[in-house]
Amino acid sequence: MEHLKAIIIGAGMGGLTAGIALQQAGYSVEIYDRVKELRSAGAAISLWSNGVKVLNRLGLGQAIAQVGGQMDRMAYYSSTGETLTDFSLQPLIDHVGQRPYPVTRTELQQLLLRAVGVETVQLNSKCLSVEQDEKGVTAFFEDGHQTTGDVLVAADGTHSVLRSYVLGYPVERKYVGYVNWNGLIPASEDLAPKNSWVLYVGAHKRASLMPVGRAPSELGGAIFSEVAPCANRFYFFLDVPLPKGTVSQPETYQEELFSFFKGWASPVQTLIERLDPTTTSRVEIHDVDPLPTLVRGRVALLGDAAHGTAPDVGQGGCQALEDALVLANYLQTTNLGVEDALKRYEAARIGRVADIIHRARKRSDITHGKQPEKTQQWYEELKREDGSNIMAAIANTILGGPLN
Ligand SMILES: Cc1cc2nc3c(=O)[nH]c(=O)nc-3n(C[C@H](O)[C@H](O)[C@H](O)COP(=O)(O)OP(=O)(O)OC[C@H]3O[C@@H](n4cnc5c(N)ncnc54)[C@H](O)[C@@H]3O)c2cc1C
Repeated sequence: MEHLKAIIIGAGMGGLTAGIALQQAGYSVEIYDRVKELRSAGAAISLWSNGVKVLNRLGLGQAIAQVGGQMDRMAYYSSTGETLTDFSLQPLIDHVGQRPYPVTRTELQQLLLRAVGVETVQLNSKCLSVEQDEKGVTAFFEDGHQTTGDVLVAADGTHSVLRSYVLGYPVERKYVGYVNWNGLIPASEDLAPKNSWVLYVGAHKRASLMPVGRAPSELGGAIFSEVAPCANRFYFFLDVPLPKGTVSQPETYQEELFSFFKGWASPVQTLIERLDPTTTSRVEIHDVDPLPTLVRGRVALLGDAAHGTAPDVGQGGCQALEDALVLANYLQTTNLGVEDALKRYEAARIGRVADIIHRARKRSDITHGKQPEKTQQWYEELKREDGSNIMAAIANTILGGPLN
């Protein structure tokens, strides 16, 4: 039997997961990325239970559990270090049926790459355009190469060029209003407990530490022996509301952060002191209004190309994984043709991802002081929080997905 062929543009977490899901659905898969070398942008990511469930479904549950951090608790502190709330995440895990896994981006990418097969991915291949007719879809690359398949997945990220093809016009990313510094740092108890997600909040700013990866001794024989054993690390991030377009260089990150977080509790000072500015990312956070359509004929947008969301609910990547599973399911289980399956994918995803974009924007506005009185109210609410409201909101987001 001749296999149907899927062309995937973009080898980020969305494109790679789509590749795995489509291979499992019986497609032959080609993945193209414009970069010369695959290096993940950013340090780490919290893969919430809905994202983990997708990996479980694809047979990668054990692999992600090996590299994921042990996040048992969550705590909010005021900027000066008073505990606002500190609670176990176990009720959330029991409710949704799967623990979340904070994971370094490099480890996640290696895991996905290995599962899809390194030979499936062709680097140095910048896609410039696509064309389609009733028989197939063709991608054209900068180097003159072209390839034709039955379906094309545009997983080319937040600056997607193929989004304009699908929509018929370009879209603008919107600055959400804050700058985020993030990176990895050795875990130590003077920063935060090693099994807790800790957040310091005040003055519309935020400092966060999250455990990623367990100590090598706790790993007990990694499945992927070539993957460097997980060191015991925290994923940290620091948010500061700033006007659009501020620039800064790694040499001055620490000086600036000391000034933005002057007077904050000592773990925040220690974090800034210890972070390595050369491996710290500084990102102006943007999102994109929900798109009116996610597909055109045989071309499907997926991941950040389909939904640009602020990271404030930690769901951008998780949504890319959900997209991948839902797309492959429709392509595998319906038989009215590729275009019909893509329409079903769009119908299943468009509301879900719009909801996440709105939730993340709302969360960002509250955290970062868009309406200062609401932020103040949130700080007050945190003092009375026993975890149940926060976990209910997270569970709601998780259970809104396809694997609920
Ligand atoms: C600070 C921050 C924190 C975040 N935290 C979380 C979190 O905790 N949890 C979570 O779930 N999500 C989080 N996210 C979101 C998450 O990082 C993204 O949603 C996810 O990486 C999107 O994956 P993707 O594959 O769609 O896109 P990308 O990872 O951007 O991959 C796109 C790929 O396409 C390639 N490409 C682009 N154009 C072309 C072209 N023309 N031809 C060929 N290749 C091309 C690029 O080189 C790239 O490799 C966060 C984001 C940020 C910025």
